[in-house]
Amino acid sequence: MKEIPEKCVSCGIKLTGVGGVRFPCPSCGTIIARCNKCKQQSNTYTCKSCGFGGP
Ligand SMILES: [Zn+2]
Ligand SMILES: [Zn+2]
Repeated sequence: MKEIPEKCVSCGIKLTGVGGVRFPCPSCGTIIARCNKCKQQSNTYTCKSCGFGGP
């Protein structure tokens, strides 16, 4: 079973109760989590596994 991150990769907020999105890294497929706020602001994210970053 894959580990599902519960913290926003951009701001580090806990997603429990806050909501947010989880999506696979376009490069390596690792699940990346981001809160709704960072999603709306299009904050950049960085994959912890491969270092891939994007808006
Ligand atoms: Zn965030
Ligand atoms: Zn990756």
